[in-house]
Amino acid sequence: MKKMSSIYNLIMVLICFVLLFALHYRGMIYTAVYPVFRDIGQYRLSKSVANYDIIEHDNFSISSYGEDENNIDNIQQIIDEYGDKVFGYFNYHTSKRIDVIVFPSKQELYSTLKIDDDKSTIGAYFGGKVNLLSVDVLEKSGEDSSILTNVFVHELTHLVIDNMTRGNYPLWFTEGSALYMEYYLLGYEWGALVEDMRPFSMDKLTYEFDKLDDFLSYKQSFLLVKGIIETYGKDKYIELIRKLGQGVDFSAACRLVLGVQPDELLLLTELIQ
Ligand SMILES: [Zn+2]
Repeated sequence: MKKMSSIYNLIMVLICFVLLFALHYRGMIYTAVYPVFRDIGQYRLSKSVANYDIIEHDNFSISSYGEDENNIDNIQQIIDEYGDKVFGYFNYHTSKRIDVIVFPSKQELYSTLKIDDDKSTIGAYFGGKVNLLSVDVLEKSGEDSSILTNVFVHELTHLVIDNMTRGNYPLWFTEGSALYMEYYLLGYEWGALVEDMRPFSMDKLTYEFDKLDDFLSYKQSFLLVKGIIETYGKDKYIELIRKLGQGVDFSAACRLVLGVQPDELLLLTELIQ
């Protein structure tokens, strides 16, 4: 009986120790485990486009299905013009090939990436890859196909943030960063016409991002990242991203690099005077 209770005590101590360790180092554990989950998504995506044609272009690999040469040229030009600009901004280097997948229909993009039909998605970063709709699909549905440039810059930024932070970021931060790069490289400003909106609290942005009105939450995310870069400078923004990549959680990274609590970042936007 004595022996049983000492084994029990030992197990309890061990469990407490593991829990405390996990709690203390949750960011680090997350950044270590995250790439495994991403690889599973990557594997699933690769399997569903296994019959696509693949063209290697510089550091990129373009998979497509039945695209004509012009459309592939178009994607290659976008890559040539903006690939290095996005990487250069973040000083991001990789020896890994970047996969760009061009989907031949909305249905295929949506079903492969499990996107709701009611969304009007043109591209998405998923499974470590940049996923886009083809020029033909956009033109047939009356969209201006030049939007693909924006989508490429946006999704490639998600890829860079994801790789640099090893998935350790709040959603608003990666959306704001992707929109900021569209603004910085292409002069496009998300929600520029929205003059008046009530900002969401940092808790809402961090924990309920998916439930918020897309348009307004994206606008606020953009203004937050723009505020960080314009107030603290690009170097601090990149340092913040690197801290996240070391497994430091967002609040602590904010305090360490910017010297403020995440809540205080709201004051940097034009939404709070
Ligand atoms: Zn996005």
